[in-house]
Amino acid sequence: MARLLEGKPIAEKIKEEIKIAVSSLGVKPVLASIQIGENAGAAAYVKSQAKVAESLGIEYQLHKLGEETAEAHLIDFIQKLNLNRSVHGIIIQMPLPQGIDYKKISRYIDPKKDVEGMHPANIGKLIFGNAKLVPCTAASAMELIKSTGVDLYGKEVVIVGHSEIVGKPLSLLLLEKFATVTVCHIGTSKAGKLEEHVKKAEILVVAVGKAGLIKGDLVKDGAIVIDVGINRVADKIVGDVEFEPAEKRASWITPVPGGVGPLTVTMLMRNLVEAVKEQQ
Ligand code: NAD
Repeated sequence: MARLLEGKPIAEKIKEEIKIAVSSLGVKPVLASIQIGENAGAAAYVKSQAKVAESLGIEYQLHKLGEETAEAHLIDFIQKLNLNRSVHGIIIQMPLPQGIDYKKISRYIDPKKDVEGMHPANIGKLIFGNAKLVPCTAASAMELIKSTGVDLYGKEVVIVGHSEIVGKPLSLLLLEKFATVTVCHIGTSKAGKLEEHVKKAEILVVAVGKAGLIKGDLVKDGAIVIDVGINRVADKIVGDVEFEPAEKRASWITPVPGGVGPLTVTMLMRNLVEAVKEQQ
């Protein structure tokens, strides 16, 4: 029976480290958060980010722009924040209204203030193994894996999902530790090869967004399972892995909710501290 790999205790430990780091920066870190239009999901993220920021001695500045904000205006707004020396980090809340392209917009954020780690310059550093600002969800999955104490050298890691915020950056972080990384995606499934990859995983990370995609009996005995997926099924939040059967086989498994989720905001704040240091 697997041990539960919960995000909250790890987040609490890292928050203590952040508090110490903040107190020795000599400046109060300021995170500028841009929310465009009204959205319940974005509002919930903003609330939780503001709460965590306050608890860590970080100033959270919320900038709410109207639903009708033009892309050019948003770019102008970002550039003003880039030039504002009292602002150390910039985050753009999702979802964005139609007509605003996140990939395009995020390139205008000063890479030194890119606390989401999504600017091409920071992704480039990830490839060279010297990134300071790492995409938050990938960093969370990495912290969960590290907390098990597993030696990643030569380990068979299978990531299902190749998005820019999870699978791709996580694969680079794991390669840096000399894990053997296989990244699966929709093409793997369509070719009928997902099962054979999942079965060999000593560490399995799933970030797809499809409830029950990974049958629990495919999990290798003793595997570490990190389920990033968030799916609402009949008023319950579940992951992408069938929890009960997987729990019987794995050595560690993240609960959903309660695994990756509680860590991501903490990773954002850790990035902010790194951003302040980069700017000093
Ligand atoms: P995405 O939609 O950008 O990417 C989905 C990935 O899944 C793609 O690589 C796609 O090829 C792959 N995929 C789709 N169907 C597949 C199939 N049948 N077999 C194999 N692969 C398949 O998603 P994302 O933004 O990376 O998010 C993935 C999941 O993680 C979602 O449920 C999302 O809500 C969740 N998420 C959680 C957190 C958190 O903090 N816990 C953060 C970000 C995302």
